[in-house]
Amino acid sequence: MPLYEFRCENSHLHELLLSMTAADRSAPCPECGGAATRLISSPALGHLGSARAQLIDRTESSAHAPTVVDQVPGRGAPRPARTTHDPRHARLPRP
Ligand SMILES: [Zn+2]
Repeated sequence: MPLYEFRCENSHLHELLLSMTAADRSAPCPECGGAATRLISSPALGHLGSARAQLIDRTESSAHAPTVVDQVPGRGAPRPARTTHDPRHARLPRP
């Protein structure tokens, strides 16, 4: 849902999340109760595709359609192949 800015006749600014189909062009001011009109502002297109925007999208989608886990997670990536052939390295402690 987009975030819309409103300004009342007393110049108080506030924001509301409204659906794109909302026809509300005015809303009561939360500070003074006067009628506030919707402002025209530029969309925040610079955030599209950023890590922050992707995180917000994943968070919002998980609230409506959470991912279902149907198996136990694996033990991680397999160990990498040996990179040394020095026999002294084989005696070093392993994690
Ligand atoms: Zn106001």
